[in-house]
Amino acid sequence: MSVTVVGSLNEDVLIPVSRLPGRGETVVAAGFALAPGGKGANQAAAAARLGPGVHMVGRVGDDAAGDRQLAALAEARVNVSRVLRTRGVATGSATIPVEEGSGENLIVVLPGANARLTPEDADVDPVRRADVVLLQLEVPLETVVAAAAAASGTVVLTPAPPRPLPADLLARVDVLVPNEPELVALARARRGAREPAELVALARRLTARPVVVTLGARGALVVEEGAALLQAPPRVRPVDTTGAGDCFSGALAQALAGGAGLAAAARYAVTAAALSTTGRGARGALPDDDAVGTLLPRTPAAVPVRP
Ligand code: ADP
Repeated sequence: MSVTVVGSLNEDVLIPVSRLPGRGETVVAAGFALAPGGKGANQAAAAARLGPGVHMVGRVGDDAAGDRQLAALAEARVNVSRVLRTRGVATGSATIPVEEGSGENLIVVLPGANARLTPEDADVDPVRRADVVLLQLEVPLETVVAAAAAASGTVVLTPAPPRPLPADLLARVDVLVPNEPELVALARARRGAREPAELVALARRLTARPVVVTLGARGALVVEEGAALLQAPPRVRPVDTTGAGDCFSGALAQALAGGAGLAAAARYAVTAAALSTTGRGARGALPDDDAVGTLLPRTPAAVPVRP
């Protein structure tokens, strides 16, 4: 059972403000908090909390933020031997003012060392041999393409942030895992509320391969050839949904690596992601396999979605 994540590591700088600044405006904050982040590293941490055998392939800078990201991942039981240091470049960061009360935010991302992850960096044994290779789009696209090409196992791609995907990449992706806005962007459809059957049609238009669309509190839509299922989450009391999508992808990858079919893996992933919303921060409430197993019987049965 092994999962290798090829992707980003960031340091999140969270700044609580009484009001988000407008253009040209200054707002004074009382403090800030640092948190480990980056979609790749968050997915790796979620997968590692649920089971062993998780490798991370990525790049950090030769700075203190890089030390902190490596330490956080190692503490989460992720093998970081393939996280390389890039001299003279900053570790990726996301600066996030968060408005107190509303919880609304602004995000400024500095890709830093993530932008230096090369196709050669991704053509390594942990990628070639993993049961599941988990990818996102916060590192250069050619590196994502190289990782998918080098993989011999199941390739799972979270297309975030969304951007047009080359046909050869889509053809090598075994499971695409967009959230609803990402699916709409990739399918070049108009924004707006959609019924599950309409989302199934969008997914089918995008690719003939399996797609799992995450739908926030509504759970996830599993679109396979000939059938589509809506998998609702178990009832939880959400506190903070930051990183729920990353927990979902990490859990889906672990379940697939353990031999589950796609519907069972999605059921496991909605249960894990629901639990992840019950604490603060992207990695604050990542569940272990026992916690997911305990809640799983209370996750509703999936229902078929008819066109
Ligand atoms: P993202 O975090 O990428 O925007 P979503 O908002 O779709 O993605 O959330 C990912 C998954 O997290 C969902 O498919 C669902 O399983 C779980 N989730 C998110 N919000 C809630 C919630 N309020 N209650 C239960 N589960 C949730």
